[in-house]
Amino acid sequence: QIPDEGAASRPGTLASRTDRLSLSNRQSTPDELPTLPNGRFTVVLDPGHGGRDPGAVGINGLQEKQVVNDITPQVAQILREQGVNVVLTRSSDVEVDLAPRVQIAERANATIFVSIHANAISLSRPDVNGLETFYSSAAGQRLANTVHSTVLSEMGMRDRRVRSARFYVIRHTSMPAILVKTP
Ligand code: ZN
Repeated sequence: QIPDEGAASRPGTLASRTDRLSLSNRQSTPDELPTLPNGRFTVVLDPGHGGRDPGAVGINGLQEKQVVNDITPQVAQILREQGVNVVLTRSSDVEVDLAPRVQIAERANATIFVSIHANAISLSRPDVNGLETFYSSAAGQRLANTVHSTVLSEMGMRDRRVRSARFYVIRHTSMPAILVKTP
């Protein structure tokens, strides 16, 4: 069962996990990062939800968009420190439709597209507490495998696997595209 992004909120609680991107080893392993091709390499980061769309909401009131809003600038900074050109589909807490998110990626001529979401952690559904990475194309699947295994090994999250899905933003972008759900 693939959760429907943008659908009604699911019950659950979102635990604080925003500190996981501050792990001390994140900048100490440059040799383990994939080699960037020569020339322009543009990553479009797509923070899910925003504005009036909170995404999943935990029973403690923490909203998916708040987690995404916190994680995305950190990911952007890490990538920029590695010399990657980063474009965001939104840089503030505003609502952006799905089609404009795709258009931003196309106009930026993105090398890859990464949509960032967060799973609601529920005591009654511990199965949703882990990293999930979704793809829609063969190129997206290769990217998904790489990103998923890298994040798992760096952060020690539970593996909820790489899987195919038909989310709009990864289905309509022409470059390798993934949708990552952090725990
Ligand atoms: Zn979401």
